[in-house]
Amino acid sequence: MTQLPPFVRIGGHRIPVLRKRLPKHFGYFEPNSLVITIDDQAPESLAWETLYHEVIEAINFLGEYNLPHQTIQQLGVWMHQAIESMELK
Ligand SMILES: [Zn+2]
Repeated sequence: MTQLPPFVRIGGHRIPVLRKRLPKHFGYFEPNSLVITIDDQAPESLAWETLYHEVIEAINFLGEYNLPHQTIQQLGVWMHQAIESMELK
């Protein structure tokens, strides 16, 4: 598993991926600043899963999908598993 990327492009946006201590959450997406922040104490697999979750949060915001949060959570888990399975060993 590799380090998280410094940013992700979604639509025309370059969204920074910041790491810092988050006592209450594993991560969050800020719609006003278009920034994703991930807890820097989270184990790497959880940090990746959280990043996928926050990418879907960003897509949900930009696309105005109004997805239920449970759907966002589930899509993040499945994306994480599927993309991990394609890693070259
Ligand atoms: Zn969420």
